[in-house]
Amino acid sequence: MKTIAVIGAGTMGNGIAHVFAQNGFQVHLIDVSKESLDKGLATISKNLDRMVAKEKISESDKEGTLNNITSFTALKSGVSKVDLAIEAATENVTIKLKIFKELDEVCDANTILASNTSSISITQIAAATSRPEKVIGMHFMNPVPIMKLVEIIRGYSTSNETTDAIMELSKKLGKTPTEVNDYPGFVANRILMPMINEAIETLHHGVAGVEEIDTVMKLGMAHPMGPLQLADFIGLDVCLSILNVMYDGFKNPKYAPSPLLVNMVMAGKKGVKSGEGFYDYSESRKAEVVSDQFTK
Ligand code: NAD
Repeated sequence: MKTIAVIGAGTMGNGIAHVFAQNGFQVHLIDVSKESLDKGLATISKNLDRMVAKEKISESDKEGTLNNITSFTALKSGVSKVDLAIEAATENVTIKLKIFKELDEVCDANTILASNTSSISITQIAAATSRPEKVIGMHFMNPVPIMKLVEIIRGYSTSNETTDAIMELSKKLGKTPTEVNDYPGFVANRILMPMINEAIETLHHGVAGVEEIDTVMKLGMAHPMGPLQLADFIGLDVCLSILNVMYDGFKNPKYAPSPLLVNMVMAGKKGVKSGEGFYDYSESRKAEVVSDQFTK
């Protein structure tokens, strides 16, 4: 595999593009929003600068990485003649099914189609194409350049050949691929999201404040980041979508999203990407706790 398309240049898409480009792949980064594309490329450049400053890579490595990335706003022009297309667009089933239907129509018959979805059924996504054996989940973790895990999700019809190719490719990126089966939330979010949701409910019920909840989990459970801060990094809208997929998929109320999470997303408080979630990320109040005004 030499040329990879990444569809979606948001939090995850720009990280995936970064890692492939840094490992010598040609990357076609595609987003319907020119603004997201520009923001994604700026983030890659900023993250590479940080690596140069830490002497992990040279200035010429940075230039080489950026030169390996070409950006597109039209899906069709970006995905022709790629070996693999990785979809990292918004966590919304309608959007994803539309993208996979189009990918199936315009990509070469041999192209593997992967989704970075956090929770949506790979089997359902694959059924929107005429090549379900070549559709697979390739779930990178945030931040992609740093996190080692790639959760590899086999849909009902994913072939051994496709799985082997994607496992091998992940290793070439220096990652540790781990194979799981296709059930709502897979493994990572089936375990992580109920914990985040419970942290939000703990805040909502006034048991403790944001910092106190995060401190308990950081110092008491040796988590590198508290669950509320982690939710801000993931994106509160993404957390809500994942919980809704698990709630619908299992028909089990234990996955029902906290009403506080629902309210915050409706109010546009999506975490780091919107500048405010449980913490305030504006320049003047970098990562300061937002008052617990939404709690009961
Ligand atoms: P995001 O909101 O930061 O970015 C999504 C991007 O997709 C936006 O730039 C948007 O313009 C673009 N987009 C929407 N529709 C599109 C289309 N039809 N074609 C091309 N681009 C389109 O979201 P994100 O956090 O990067 O999440 C992307 C995917 O990765 C989701 O499936 C999410 O569940 C998954 N994921 C997220 C995290 C996380 O921590 N945020 C971790 C692992 C996986």
